[in-house]
Amino acid sequence: MNIILLGPPGAGKGTQANLLVEARGMVQLSTGDMLRAARTSGTTMGKRVAEVMDRGELVTDEIVIGLIREKLEEGSEGGFIFDGFPRTLAQADALGALLAETGQALDHVIELEVDDDVLVSRILNRAAEAAAAGQSVRADDNEESLKTRLMEYYKKTSPIIGYYHAKGALTKVDGLAEIDTVQASISTVLDA
Ligand code: AMP
Repeated sequence: MNIILLGPPGAGKGTQANLLVEARGMVQLSTGDMLRAARTSGTTMGKRVAEVMDRGELVTDEIVIGLIREKLEEGSEGGFIFDGFPRTLAQADALGALLAETGQALDHVIELEVDDDVLVSRILNRAAEAAAAGQSVRADDNEESLKTRLMEYYKKTSPIIGYYHAKGALTKVDGLAEIDTVQASISTVLDA
């Protein structure tokens, strides 16, 4: 089973993806994690994306589609969880084509619904907690980058909600509920 977790930054996609990996042996494909790994690798691509990410803008479709293509070719028995991908209509189209090419299907698109005020405070808390614990704080977890990330989400990513709704693949889940409750709601969708 292959699924997409959709929602703005701070909606809980990463948290829920981790829980699905533990519970169902699925493989999480987070383009954000892949890009953060690339930026520390010292490659030219890594340096190019670092600045874009820190500003809170989206990196090019070409780069992220290339990262996803490599992983899809490897395959996964438990299925893939796409976390933070696709983020544009072009990426959504590319994902459909890549899945078709590799003989795979997209089973569910789950949108985690939240409101903006909660997102901002969740992300700023995440940064404060990481700082207090002596961990590194994401360079884009500050108020200014966050505004850009939200704007990028509404301008470029939110249209894919309608795209998947029209394909009959979309289910909305209340992302403001407790983590366990959100997890249970997602399970209900996947087991239906
Ligand atoms: P995330 O960890 O999903 O919040 O992603 C962090 C940052 O990585 C985003 O703000 C973008 O700069 C970049 N990024 C991650 N995934 C994508 C994607 N699918 N398309 C474009 N940029 C992405």
